[in-house]
Formats: sequence, structure tokens, C-alpha cells
Amino acid sequence: MIRNPVPWPGGARCAVAFSFDVDADSFVHLSYPDDADNRLHSLAIARFGPQVGVPRLIDVFKRHEVPVTWFVPGWVMERYPAAVEAMLESKGEVAHHGYLHHNPVGLSLAEEEDAIMRSVEIIRHMTGQKPRGYRAPSWGVSRHTIPLLMKAGIDYDSSLMGDEIPYLLTYDGKRSIVEIPTAHGLDDWMHYMNWRDFDYLMPVKAPAQAHEVYRAEFDAAWEYGGMWVSVWHPLVSGRLARAREMHALIRHMQAKGGVWFARMEEIAAHVRKVVQSGAWTPRVDRLPYYKGRIPELHASGKPVVRAARKTAPKAKPKRRR
Ligand code: ZN
Repeated sequence: MIRNPVPWPGGARCAVAFSFDVDADSFVHLSYPDDADNRLHSLAIARFGPQVGVPRLIDVFKRHEVPVTWFVPGWVMERYPAAVEAMLESKGEVAHHGYLHHNPVGLSLAEEEDAIMRSVEIIRHMTGQKPRGYRAPSWGVSRHTIPLLMKAGIDYDSSLMGDEIPYLLTYDGKRSIVEIPTAHGLDDWMHYMNWRDFDYLMPVKAPAQAHEVYRAEFDAAWEYGGMWVSVWHPLVSGRLARAREMHALIRHMQAKGGVWFARMEEIAAHVRKVVQSGAWTPRVDRLPYYKGRIPELHASGKPVVRAARKTAPKAKPKRRR
């Protein structure tokens, strides 16, 4: 089913990366800039992430000796330094997730570059290393994002979902970046989130039900030599019953055997290694996919097809009996 599986280290059947997006209350301020301070209910739910969720999740993964990748907006790192320290102490990878969680699609080139470079500096300052990986806030990958990441020296992105195993992105035929895709089914937001201030009104699933999806994705990846990358949030999956269910999921993975549990920086480095040695040939996606409006559209934005139909002779109406 996977035509060109990656040769994983040690002959592992699949790679697994547990990754969390630690948004905290960044997007409460973005959505309600003038009265976020008057929305204590939403602020409290969001602050649960770094304050309760992160330390709890660290304990869960420590118990099973499974590494974690944390995508943290720079602003969140500045506001919650204790959470960042705990991630580093437990050998977690701290990766880039924008500055204040602005969706890059709505930013100008200068604004997006500022958000990326600002957080690169914060990560460098607080962790002693520049970030290796990036995930776009709100899945917003703009036409500028990938070249900006290349300029910032970031090695991998995990926002595009254009495959199920790693692939390479090139831009204007220049440098490449490793894409480590995930899937919406592996995003906990879709399974649990019910939050009126943001119009998320998904019916809340029981943890075992959500984990059925995660397990099915893992079992398929294991069977066909694929990869499993979660997109979870401490404010969502750090809740007690959901965090408890993770023990069962990790045990299920460990019992299967032949699983490479890795930080995402390790997956990117491994991909670079097997590509350079010639042991594996990746699929390459060349960017940009398009430059501006496609020619099949008029400048007005109306589809050419519709205009052509107007001039076409009308077919004779069929007689009805
Ligand atoms: Zn996020």
C-alpha cells in the first residue's frame, strides 16, 4: 500500500512521533484582543495546557520512555518558562509554532518573517539550540512560509499532510526541507473540542473512541512500513481521562514491537541520512504549486467555462409527454 517505504533505523516497521502543540491562551488574545482579560473561563481552559497538561503528559511519556516533540509559540514560551524547562529536562524537542499563533495566511511577508525570526531567537535563547522543526499555527501555510523556513535554517515542516511518509519540499529548485506529514484524524481537537467562545462545537468523544482512530492509524502504519505523528494539545489531551488512555495506546504500540519512537528532529535527520547515502529516494514536491491566479480563470475571477457556456447555442428543449 505504501510504494516507497522509508528504511527506518534498526529495521523498524514504522516510526512514531508523539507531538503536541502547546498553544496555551495565545489564540484567546488573538481572537478577542480587546476583552480577552474579561474571558476568564476561556483563559483558564487554555492555561490548563502549560500549567497542568504539560507536567502530567511528561510523566506519562517518562514512564514509558517515549520521547515527545513540543511545538510552542514563542509568546507561550515567554509566558510559561517553567513548562519549557520541564520539556527540556525530560529530553523533549522544542519546535517552532509561530510567535503569537497568528495564522500566516493572513499575514504580510514582513509580518510572517518577523513572527518566524522572533521565535527562532526565543527558542535559541531558551533552549540553547535553534529550532529544527516548524508546524504552522492553525495549519496556515502561506506562499511565503516554506522559503522563510529555509531562510531561517529550519530543517523540517509538519503542516502540509501531502503524504503519509516523509517527503521533500523544494522551492524554486533551491534548497529542500523535509516534510513530516500528519493527518487530521490524529488531531485531538477534532475528537474532543467543544468551546463556545471559538464556535468549536464538536460532540465530545470518549477517550477510548478517539483512541480507536489513533490505533487504526497506527496499526496501518505498522503493517505497511509507514509513520504515525500525532497532533495533540496539552489543553485538550492533558485532561485526566484522555491522558490516562495514552498509557494503553503506548502499551499497544510497544507490544507490537518494531516501532521506532522518535523526536521529529530525529526523523528529519534520518530522512536526510538515507537520502544522502542513496538508501532511499524520496518523493519531491516542488513549490510553489502555483504562482497567482490560474490562467483558466478570467481576471474577474469568473470561471472561463461559465462564460463559454453563455455563448454556446442552446440545445432544443425535449418535448415532454
Ligand atoms: Zn496551535
